[in-house]
Amino acid sequence: MAATDSAKTRLYVDDDLGDGQKVDLSASQAHYLKHVLRLSASDRVVLFNGRDGEWLSRIDAIGRGCGSLEITCQLRAQSEEPDLWLLFAPIKRARLDFLVQKAVELGVSRIMPVTTDRTEVRRLNVERHRTNVIEATEQCERMTLPSFAEPQSLAAILDSFPEDRTLAVCAERGDAPMLGDVLRAPEAAMQRWAILCGPEGGFTERELDALGKLHFISLVSLGPRILRAETAVLSAVTCWQAALGDWRQRPPERDLA
Ligand code: SAM
Repeated sequence: MAATDSAKTRLYVDDDLGDGQKVDLSASQAHYLKHVLRLSASDRVVLFNGRDGEWLSRIDAIGRGCGSLEITCQLRAQSEEPDLWLLFAPIKRARLDFLVQKAVELGVSRIMPVTTDRTEVRRLNVERHRTNVIEATEQCERMTLPSFAEPQSLAAILDSFPEDRTLAVCAERGDAPMLGDVLRAPEAAMQRWAILCGPEGGFTERELDALGKLHFISLVSLGPRILRAETAVLSAVTCWQAALGDWRQRPPERDLA
């Protein structure tokens, strides 16, 4: 049996990771390993921190609200993951939890909630979403941890948006080109990308007019049907992964200097 077969438990930690290193468990990690998974001393746990690759460790000691692990060997070297930012207008809680979890699984690198004119959900528990991001990252065996930003207004985000990143704005009305066609254009592989999807009520005409005037914006369509906000987000990310991300055999060389 391979060394990892019995070590299915995968934890994100902040510590640096390396041969022989000791890692202290947080109270919630110790509780999870001891009381939820019923692991005990010498059981194996896979660790990653998004920087140093993935490592196999053994539980050294575990008690009520505390414990430590000792690293035994490296399982995977650190690898890069696609650079795709996701901007979206927050929706109601259960669907938002689903959206964030699936966006992590689909491989976005940065999650940015945006308040638009018609956004109904204006207060977010950012810490709870960051915890969801960690859990989804552990579960789907990603090597990097996507960031979850504090919510910002659309105007504030656009004001400070990096000029060298193209923002594909999913616009459900009008004659925007199809996202798939835009991403398959030869120049698309040379660009950095972000995707923006609107709230349940859609973008206002005022917002679409303002967005359409910015040179780093590309208004795109997701086809003839009006998708729910979370369907739109996940479809757009999937489309990007298939065209430019790691759902292809060989990513093209990118010259982003
Ligand atoms: N109530 C809006 C309407 O009928 O026009 C629909 C908004 S839709 C539920 C939420 C968001 O998903 C939109 O703001 C847009 O960003 C995205 N979206 C949904 N369907 C789309 C499509 N066919 N093309 C592009 N974007 C779409």
